[in-house]
Amino acid sequence: MVGAQWGDEGKGKITDYLAQQADVVIRYQGGSNAGHTVVNEHGTFKLHLVPSGIFNPSALCVVGPGTVVDLPALVEELEMLASRGIGTANLRVSDRAHLVLPYHIALDRLDERERGRRRLGTTGRGVGPAYADKVARHGIQLYEVRDERRFRTRVAHELLVKNAILERFGDAPLDPREVADAVLAAAARLGDRIVDTLPIVERAVAQDARILLEGQLGAMRDLDWGIYPYVTSSNPLAGGAAVGAGIPARHITRVIGVVKAYSTAVGEGPFPTELTGREADELRERANEYGATTGRPRRVGWFDAVASRHAHRLNAFTELAVTKLDMLGRYERIPFCVAYEIDGRRTTDMPPTSVLERATPCYEELAGWASDITGVTGRAGLPRQADAYLRRIEEVVGAPVSIVGIGPERTATLLSRPRGAARPPG
Ligand code: GDP
Repeated sequence: MVGAQWGDEGKGKITDYLAQQADVVIRYQGGSNAGHTVVNEHGTFKLHLVPSGIFNPSALCVVGPGTVVDLPALVEELEMLASRGIGTANLRVSDRAHLVLPYHIALDRLDERERGRRRLGTTGRGVGPAYADKVARHGIQLYEVRDERRFRTRVAHELLVKNAILERFGDAPLDPREVADAVLAAAARLGDRIVDTLPIVERAVAQDARILLEGQLGAMRDLDWGIYPYVTSSNPLAGGAAVGAGIPARHITRVIGVVKAYSTAVGEGPFPTELTGREADELRERANEYGATTGRPRRVGWFDAVASRHAHRLNAFTELAVTKLDMLGRYERIPFCVAYEIDGRRTTDMPPTSVLERATPCYEELAGWASDITGVTGRAGLPRQADAYLRRIEEVVGAPVSIVGIGPERTATLLSRPRGAARPPG
């Protein structure tokens, strides 16, 4: 399950829904910068690193090797779940995942501050610097906490350079002992839930178990294919799922692209269909578009089929899940972006970032349904115009819609039989 826009597509709800039938749910990239909102019979939850499958007591939840893990934050999240009656014994965390350490958080904030006007709009959770250390071969993997003396030496060594940078920019240096203590204490709380996850996944594949791979963010924030540098530091694409979960690529049989019925973005970077002023405020308020991790107001805009088609070209979605269709119920006519105009030329290809900044959206006007669709029980029960809106998404993006969200609750979900096979992307 992969985001097919800028993130915040409503993946939390869709995974929670799909996880009801899953045997294993795996988070394959990202860190606790995610904010997946889940509303079910237990209440409303904002999950950051824990897979949304945690609400299915019979599913095994795996934080995969492709993630970066802030252990104290993970423990805090588990305590929050436990305090609300949700068991977390079924969680396993890969011992190959990399640690997010307090110095990554300090460096994340320093970096954003020093970028000034060209800041990225990160969540300040240290995820980018942790991945940077991983790639620069300075990262510390979770298994390393098992050898306490060596771990303390590693932390102290890393802090020699990190502290020099912090001090150079006027920030307080970190104490190696305090850093190591906090991580070791959290690791002790997780105990034997930190494991080699490969045998678990391998066994699940061999038993033909239903494995749900839960992506964070969306294709437009993919490190390689998104709006670099306004991207996340990992690969949310389905290709990233194979590596980040440790599952051979040929075992992935379905790829579900999640799109919101309109667009939203948190953070900086080009967003061609963005609305401003009163129109934006209205949609934001009505649809409650505020970041799950930071509470920041989200940027909002109309559906961008160029962006989601770009996502389909890279993911070959077998189906789409469309969320928040209920939020468009007020409109008589709905602008729907099918192409961009750039320097006087029309295109449906996604250009690189600084060119995208010059793109203006080419809109079709689709008929709105100007009615409340909450409570509808099947796709056939939707107003004709709402069904036509979904059909237009299917046509322009190129994949059939199989799930439609018409409310935040797990139950506010319509299943729609995919109309024919997905068109080969491209
Ligand atoms: P994620 O990071 O992709 O999981 O997205 P978020 O959870 O940050 O944002 C999605 C928001 O929309 C959350 O508040 C969800 O509860 C809510 N949501 C998801 N699907 C629907 C839907 O179909 N209708 C409505 N009204 N709200 C939804």
